[in-house]
Amino acid sequence: MKVFIAGAGISGLLSAFYLVRAGFEVEIHEKSARAGGLIRTVHSPFGPLENGAASLLNSPEVQNLFDELGISAAKPGSRAGARYIYRDFPRRWPLSLNQSIEFFTGVTRLAFSPDKGLQSGQSVREWGQKYFGKQASSLLIETALQGVYAGDAERMSVELVLGPMLKKTNKIKGFRRNLHKGAAMPDGGMGKLISALVAYLENAGVKINFGSEIKSADIDLSSPWIIATPITAAGKLLSGMGVDGGGELQAHEMLNLTSIHLVFENSPLPFDGVGCLFPKSAGFNSLGLLTGKTAFPNQFNRPVERWFIGGALSKNTAHLTENELVDLVLADRQVLTKDRHKPSVVHVFSNPCALPHFTNELARIRTKLSPPTNMYLLGNYTGGIGLTSIHKQCKNMPGRIKSGQ
Ligand SMILES: Cc1cc2nc3c(=O)[nH]c(=O)nc-3n(C[C@H](O)[C@H](O)[C@H](O)COP(=O)(O)OP(=O)(O)OC[C@H]3O[C@@H](n4cnc5c(N)ncnc54)[C@H](O)[C@@H]3O)c2cc1C
Repeated sequence: MKVFIAGAGISGLLSAFYLVRAGFEVEIHEKSARAGGLIRTVHSPFGPLENGAASLLNSPEVQNLFDELGISAAKPGSRAGARYIYRDFPRRWPLSLNQSIEFFTGVTRLAFSPDKGLQSGQSVREWGQKYFGKQASSLLIETALQGVYAGDAERMSVELVLGPMLKKTNKIKGFRRNLHKGAAMPDGGMGKLISALVAYLENAGVKINFGSEIKSADIDLSSPWIIATPITAAGKLLSGMGVDGGGELQAHEMLNLTSIHLVFENSPLPFDGVGCLFPKSAGFNSLGLLTGKTAFPNQFNRPVERWFIGGALSKNTAHLTENELVDLVLADRQVLTKDRHKPSVVHVFSNPCALPHFTNELARIRTKLSPPTNMYLLGNYTGGIGLTSIHKQCKNMPGRIKSGQ
């Protein structure tokens, strides 16, 4: 059976990979001139600089995927698990004793709650404050989720954002000896995963048509079609086909997210870990930063800082120039390090429509959406935003197509 795929981002490529392995014939149409979508690696003299995902959560399935594609995994550093949250200074644990007691009381209550207290229509903030109290919710839960989803805790759907994690429906099962916990990245950056997938698919006879934007009229559902585009493009295709809910997908709120890579000479960060997140109350312009060299020391010959700015709480940043964004990040860095050094290297990746806002509105649209037979929606809005969820959905795609579900 032949399957058509619109979009050669990681969703389109990975689903093609699993379909080919299951014996399907596959053809991909990609609007732009390159594969990878949001995932794009720039190779700098200091190490790989990433536009989108810089790593994916390690699992036996990820290691099997790397093995099959002939990818060697970057070796994680000894401090790869050390994450910080800013409260006056970067701390591993930002809560006071009383707040910690309140937090762990909430954890105990949730451990005995079969549905983990998740209710549809409830926001992350409502859920967090109900179980952990205002401060713990704001400093831990909201800050962590704002760091991943770039969303507003007051509007993010707790069901969408935490449901898969707390109910463990997102986990890819398997077992591998010596599997390190945490993040996995190919040697040389995420671009290596994309190029290895493209090479595998082309070897297997998959045609990837670049510069080929799929329109509603191109979709002939006598064969299966996987729509692996961003949410708004999928909505446009659906609404052009008269599918209920397509217009709402197309108009769904997108968040801008810019990542700014900085390299400094002799200006160390005041923490020894993979990154630091800033709670909203701390008054920073940016969401936080990651330090690639701590995560994967062999991949970088200098400490490269990756700062994130934008998202639902800083929508005004969408209208700023790159230089203005860099100035805001440098002002944050001065507060963090108490140091006025200028960076020797600056690299900016702008993504004006980076990610869908995981709001209760998205939860509502997803429930009511019913694509026609033989059409499969796939991407960072159909499950969780990260690659673990995308990977799981791609793995399930051959089974779904065989069963027509
Ligand atoms: C700054 C940033 C940091 C991130 N960090 C992480 C991280 O550390 N870990 C993690 O797991 N995730 C991370 N993510 C999220 C992750 O990168 C994305 O969710 C994922 O890459 C989305 O992949 P996709 O293939 O679904 O969509 P996309 O990458 O958007 O690809 C969709 C493709 O469809 C094409 N297309 C669009 N319309 C059409 C059409 N009509 N016809 C044909 N082709 C079309 C586009 O050109 C594009 O190539 C991050 C995202 C951002 C923005």
